[in-house]
Order: sequence, then structure tokens, then C-alpha cells
Amino acid sequence: MIRRVVVVGGGVMGSSAAWHLAARGDEVVLLEQFAPGHDRGSSHGSSRIFRLAYADPFYLGLAVRALPLWQRLEEETGIGVLALTGAVDHGPARTVSALEEALRAAGRPAEALSPAEAGERWPGLRVDTAALFHPEAGRLHADRAVTAFQTAARKHGARIRHGVKVARVTARGSGAEVVTAEEEVLTADAVVVAAGGWTPRFAAPGDRELPAMRVTAEQPAHFAAADALGWPSFIHHGGAGLPEGPGVYGLGSADGVKAGFHGVGPVVDPDRDRVINAEMLRDLLEYAERWLPGVDRTNPVPKTCLYTTTPDHDFVIDRSGPCTVLAGFSGHGFKFASVIGELAADLVAGRPGAERFARTRFGEGRAAR
Ligand SMILES: Cc1cc2nc3c(=O)[nH]c(=O)nc-3n(C[C@H](O)[C@H](O)[C@H](O)COP(=O)(O)OP(=O)(O)OC[C@H]3O[C@@H](n4cnc5c(N)ncnc54)[C@H](O)[C@@H]3O)c2cc1C
Repeated sequence: MIRRVVVVGGGVMGSSAAWHLAARGDEVVLLEQFAPGHDRGSSHGSSRIFRLAYADPFYLGLAVRALPLWQRLEEETGIGVLALTGAVDHGPARTVSALEEALRAAGRPAEALSPAEAGERWPGLRVDTAALFHPEAGRLHADRAVTAFQTAARKHGARIRHGVKVARVTARGSGAEVVTAEEEVLTADAVVVAAGGWTPRFAAPGDRELPAMRVTAEQPAHFAAADALGWPSFIHHGGAGLPEGPGVYGLGSADGVKAGFHGVGPVVDPDRDRVINAEMLRDLLEYAERWLPGVDRTNPVPKTCLYTTTPDHDFVIDRSGPCTVLAGFSGHGFKFASVIGELAADLVAGRPGAERFARTRFGEGRAAR
């Protein structure tokens, strides 16, 4: 059965969904409100961390599924997206050893290192606690990934339309009606809403099923470094050596070494003005002074980007009637995008989704985990 599917949102998630749906033979139209390559949402720029290392086997398994799909995307399009430069985790011993155990249990390579060994191998990073290296990790090129998904989707017949803002989505009979801001009406058998920080706007007033999502403006910065492209990705976990908290992530990229605090930004309207936050930049500079001896701290270039965070940091990948929602990626979704499109296509085809990603998990009668 060929379905007509409208995808709302051309960030990495909607674009991946368009690829998987079109590859299965569905008739797909993707509507994105902004121009190609825009930097107003969550999927822009030159770098995102790819890693398998999650202490939680559920996410580790999802990353294992995502890896060959990234490679398939590269083969289908000829666009280079993923560079496996490896990942370094450092911080409290219990955090680092939980990652090591999870990787070993899944049969994936991992190497525990002393601070001295880590310092010798990556002189640009200061490590004073337990460290772990795992090679099946590295850097995704964010802009190229979005372009590749859209290129691949087009090859399978999808229509990708930029500059088209969706005003509302309404269930109609067994399908749905999508109305644009210009009052164009598209009818569909199914709709996939992948609108990033704008997703809460698609919830009906009083929709208690969709988890509350915090939309925040995060602000990493790029620092010049001679060998930036050779850097592994890194996570400095909160605790030993760093105040308790969500920690710092970073990685090398074509724009230098990127570093950022995870999920500390202010709550914003997604249509924000994107002014640089001087205090956040100063905190990052202080971090780099102490922990990143290999970067040039004189002229960092900050960038803003939206996180859309659920109360439990788990995603929402679920269907309700004709409408599938992909949202709440809580600052760690990019690495999984290649498989999230597949999960979306499964939901559209009527297969059940993961309980963990259910939109109703905070609803009445269900305890928040
Ligand atoms: C600073 C930062 C660093 C990150 N680092 C990592 C990392 O290292 N590793 C990792 O795995 N993840 C990382 N993430 C998370 C990851 O980037 C996001 O989870 C992912 O990009 C979310 O993609 P999305 O498609 O859901 O949202 P978006 O990219 O925001 O896409 C949503 C799209 O929907 C469009 N849209 C919204 N409303 C409408 C409408 N009404 N009509 C038409 N179009 C509409 C928007 O314009 C937008 O293009 C990071 C995020 C940030 C902000």
C-alpha cells in the first residue's frame, strides 16, 4: 500500500524520516519553514558527537543500530557524514567504569586509561581522573547529514519544500489535513511532526499526553586548534575534577574544537533573537583555560542551538491516530537520527513503537520514571 505522508520539519529527524519513508515506497512531501542550511533550530553546524558509549543498554543498542545506517546514507549519496575519530570519557571512576562495562557487555571495544596515559595520547585535553577510550565514536557533520538525508529522500521520489510553514495539522477521517500559513491544504494518510523546539505548538491545548518539553538555547563555542580534525570527541562527566552537574562535551571539527556545557541554557521561545550570552561564553572560557590546554583561548566563536528536553531525557517517538511525533531529543538525539527515521517509518506502517518513547508515559495512571 502506498501512503501519502507529510513530514513537518526538515531538521535531521524529519529529513531522516523522509528518507526511510520514501525508500519504502511511500509518497512523501517534507515541509520546512526555513531555507536549506538554516541555523535556527537544532541540526545546523559542522559537528555532532557520535558514540556508542551509554551506560544504559537501551541507548547503546540504538546507537549500534544507527551506525550502519549512517554508512548506508553515505554510500547512497556519496556525501561524507561520519568520521570515526574515537571518544574519550573522563570523570568519576564509577561513571567511567559503568560505560566500560556496558560497552564490554555489548561486545564493543573499549580501553581504560590512566590520567597519565590519556595525557600522553591527547595532550590537548587535561585528564586527572579515570578515562575510557572507545573507537566506535567520533564526529557527524550536521549540515551534511541533513543534506544527505534530503538528497537520499529525493532520489526515492520525496518532494522537499523549503520556505513552507505549517499552521496546523488536523485529523480527518482515517487520515489528516495539513494547512500551511499560506492556507494551502494538503491531505495525507499520515503526518510525521518533527518540528524540534516548535513541536509543543502542535499539541492541542490541554494535550496531557505529550510530555512537557523544555526548549533552551544552548551555546557551545569553537576554539582554534592546529590539529582540530584529529581530536577525538570527549565527555568530561560532572563530579570528580568538575563540579557536580551535567558535564562538558566537545569534539574536533572543521571549525575548530567545539566545547559546550550540556543542557545549561535558558528557557527560550524557539523564535528567539539569538543574541550571544556573554556569561555562558565566559564560563566556557574558564573551562577551556583549565581543561583544554591544546586550544587557542583568545578568540572563541560561540554558536546558539536549541535543546528540546523531556522530564526524563528520553525521546518521544510515538504515534497517535494518523500523527507520528518525533521530538524531545534532549540534547543527545543527533547520533541516532539515522535509525529514528526508520522507527518513524515503522510507526507509520502500523508497527508498535518502544514503550520507552511513548508520548503517554507521563499521562494519567502512569508514573514518571
Ligand atoms: C549545541 C547542541 C549540541 C548538540 N550536540 C549533540 C551531539 O554531540 N550528539 C548528539 O547526538 N546530539 C547532539 N545534539 C542534539 C541534536 O542536535 C538534536 O537532538 C537534533 O538536531 C534534533 O533535530 P530535530 O530534527 O528534532 O530538530 P530541528 O533541527 O530543530 O528541526 C526541526 C525543524 O522543524 C522546522 N519547523 C518547525 N516548525 C515548523 C512549521 N510550523 N512548519 C514547517 N517547519 C517547521 C524547523 O524550522 C526545523 O528546521 C546537540 C544539540 C545542540 C543544540
